[in-house]
Parts: sequence; C-alpha cells; structure tokens
Amino acid sequence: MEGKRAYNRGHVLVLPYPTQGHINPLLQVAKRLAFKGLKTTLVTTLSSWRSMYTESISVDVQTISDGYDDGGFLKAESIEAYLNRFKEVGSQTLAELIKKQKSSGHPVDCLVYDSFLPWALDVAKSFGLVGAPFFTQSCAVENIYYHVHQGLLTVPMTETTAASLPGLPPLDIMDMPSFISVSGSYPSYFAMVVNQFSNLETTDWILVNTFQELEVEEVDWMTRRWPLLRTIGPTIPSMYMDKRVTYDMDYGLNLFKSDGSACLNWLNKRAAGSVVYVSFGSLAALEVEQMEELGWGLRRTNSHFLWVVRSSEVDKLPNKFIEETSDKGLIVAWSPQLEVLAHQAVGCFVTHCGWNSTLEAVSLGVPMVGIPQWTDQPTNAKYVEDVWEVGLRARPGEKGIVCREEVERCVREIMEGERGEQIRKNAIKWRNLAKEAMDEGGSSDKNLDEFVAKLVFK
Ligand code: UDP
Repeated sequence: MEGKRAYNRGHVLVLPYPTQGHINPLLQVAKRLAFKGLKTTLVTTLSSWRSMYTESISVDVQTISDGYDDGGFLKAESIEAYLNRFKEVGSQTLAELIKKQKSSGHPVDCLVYDSFLPWALDVAKSFGLVGAPFFTQSCAVENIYYHVHQGLLTVPMTETTAASLPGLPPLDIMDMPSFISVSGSYPSYFAMVVNQFSNLETTDWILVNTFQELEVEEVDWMTRRWPLLRTIGPTIPSMYMDKRVTYDMDYGLNLFKSDGSACLNWLNKRAAGSVVYVSFGSLAALEVEQMEELGWGLRRTNSHFLWVVRSSEVDKLPNKFIEETSDKGLIVAWSPQLEVLAHQAVGCFVTHCGWNSTLEAVSLGVPMVGIPQWTDQPTNAKYVEDVWEVGLRARPGEKGIVCREEVERCVREIMEGERGEQIRKNAIKWRNLAKEAMDEGGSSDKNLDEFVAKLVFK
C-alpha cells in the first residue's frame, strides 16, 4: 500500500492489547495513518510477535515486553498477574522504545494505544507526546462502562433492574456486557474495562472503532461528555475504497495459522448465498454441550457450513461429527475471515458477536445469527437484532445453552424465511453506510484527516 504523501513530522506508535481482536483493528489504524502520510510503527509484545504468522505488512513493527517474553499470557499465573506485570514491564520497555526511536533519528510525536492499556498514556505524557486511546469496542459498550466507572450503574445488575442509560436503548440484563450482568465474573477484566476511563482527562483524543451513522445517539452522547472523541471505523482493510490503491483483504498479522486456500477452494464450489459461516473468534471457549447442539443444529439446517473450530476446541466436537457431516460441512482451525465474509457463497454468519466480527459482517453486508458468549458480545447481539436489524439472536434455553432446534430456527429464518429477506436488505443498507463512512470525505475518513492535520501542523 502506498502513502498519498509523506510528512516530515508525525511519527505515530500504535500499541494494541496483544490479542487478535485488538491487533487487527489497531494494525489497520496504523496502515491507515501510513496511507495518510505519517510514519507509523506498530508496537507488539515480543511474545505475541514470536507467535505471529506474518503477511507482508506496510508498517514498521517494534516490540516491547509484557514480562512474559516466552509464551505471553499463557505463562502467567493469573489474569491479574499478567495485567500487573504487563503494566510494569510494558511501561518501562515502551519508554525505552520511545528513547531509542529518538536516538535513531525517528522521534515519536504521538502514541495511539489500546484503551485497555491506560498506563500507556502516562508513558506518552512523560515524554510530552500526543496521546490517543483507541477504543476497540462499540460506543454503546463504552458508554455502559463509563457509567460504571462514574458509579452511575450499580454492578452486578440484578434481574429486576433493566437499565435505562442516556444515549442507549433500554437494555435488559441479558443485553449487558457479561462483566456487568454476571456477579463476580472475571474481576480483573472487569477492572480493566472500567479503568479505560481512569486517566482520560489528560488525553488529546479518543478514537473509537465505530462510525457515526451506526451509533448516532451513542456517539452523540459520548461526544458531549468527551468532545475529543472521534469515530474512525470500521478499521477493516476492505473498507478503504480509494480505487488508486490495491488493499489487502487480510489484516496481515495472525496469531493462528489460517487454512485460507482450503476455505476459499471449498467456497468456490458453492452456490451464491448458500453457505453458513460459523466462527466464535479467537478466545471464546464453548461448553462441550454447546458445541454438540451447535453442530447438530447446523446439520439440521441442511445448508452447507464452514465452521472455524480452533485447535483448542476441536476435542469438543461431537463424536464422528466430521465424518457424518462431510457432505455438508468443512471444519477448519482458522479462516481468512474477511475473504470468507466477502465471498458470494456466504449467506449467513453464525457468530459470537465479537466487535470486530460484528463490524466486519455489517461492513460486508452479511446477515448474522448471534450466539454471544461473554464480555461485550451480548450487547453487540442486541444491536444486531433490534437496532440495526441485520440478524437474529439465538436464545439460550436451560443451562444457558442454545439448543439445536434454536440454531436451526435462526439459520433457516435468515436463509429461507421472510424475515431473512428484510434482514438482507438492511444488511446492504448498513454495508453501504459503512463504506461511505470510510470513503474519502466520509465521516470516519474526515475524522482521521483532522487527527493527522492536528498532529502534522500543530
Ligand atoms: N478471525 C479470523 N479468522 C477466524 C476467526 C476470526 O481472521 O477464523 C478474525 C476476525 O476477522 C476478527 C478477529 O479475528 O477480526 C476476532 O475478533 P472479534 O472481536 O470478532 O472476536 P475476539 O476474538 O476478540 O473474541
């Protein structure tokens, strides 16, 4: 990817939290800033860099340490231990990197950092840099966490207290991020999402991976509270519509080895709109019983399905499932998800509703069946079904498991039902709005131009 112009100043470090769902959008931010003429450097942890499958990417990469260079998070005693050590060692090594860049003739002007790592702003400010957190989740979800941070939403919620928060539709307990609705679950992650707001008073910008038109009231409310907030999403490679430049269909850095050609060759043999694509992202671990219900539910739909089952999940597949469904299904360990979603054979996406997956489906016009698992996914699923009307949310039955009949009902409704037709029309409407937001002069593109101009001409 070529830059349009090159400025003399404006070296930006871009620091993601080291999981796939954070590396992808922040790498894309880095590429987009490079395209706008800035020098950008992606900063990853050494541990994640060592385990990445790398395509050729157009930005420089430098590493810092999370304190677990050999194995990363998996080597930590607990989530809390990992986050504490990352803060301590990450702050030191980030400071060293900033000094090193200066002595090698590339002084840093700005740090765009994952909002899950608020300590990075303190490092940026200690060097007098412009600091800009990037929120990788929706404005709606950030609004909820902000209310918790301010003590305006009591956690954990109980069944009787459906929330009515400004800028948001009424949200039942099942629509809330899991850290809020489930008592005591993942206290360290809960603290992390609330702490995103701990030091924002000193920030220069707040960047969010969404677009104005997708979350009108949510963005409006947050911008009134945080006038420096700008939407710059969806940060997805295929969204860059400048026809003079050839863009990748992949983000470029994968923590998992992709079965790309197997997926695409298989999809090429299927009729338009006939395939159900199924993925639960990079982290979610399904209950064994849920895997079984999902598998047999997919089989009952009679559609072809392409199902991503990560190697850590594969033992949970029902006995002989692969053999018994080989006429209909392909199971892979990791897919080139953007290419899959953009493939004309795909008619429906059964998803955990991670924010990237949700935005990718919205941006590529693919109807969804949401089976949210944890964190922000329930809220995203609520928006998919009731706000944007681009999909259905499968309802769990007893024990919190979505049964096979429900999987079949939702998939058939999308693939064959009347509601599916309306959902497909809505999906195309949102796809076009997403493209417009990212296209030259669109709402997200203008916001990024403003960010670049302030940095370069300040
Ligand atoms: N992804 C992929 N191949 C897969 C599954 C997921 O490339 O087989 C990518 C997907 O496109 C998305 C990211 O991994 O960009 C997952 O992020 P998301 O926020 O959806 O979920 P998380 O993994 O954070 O739960």
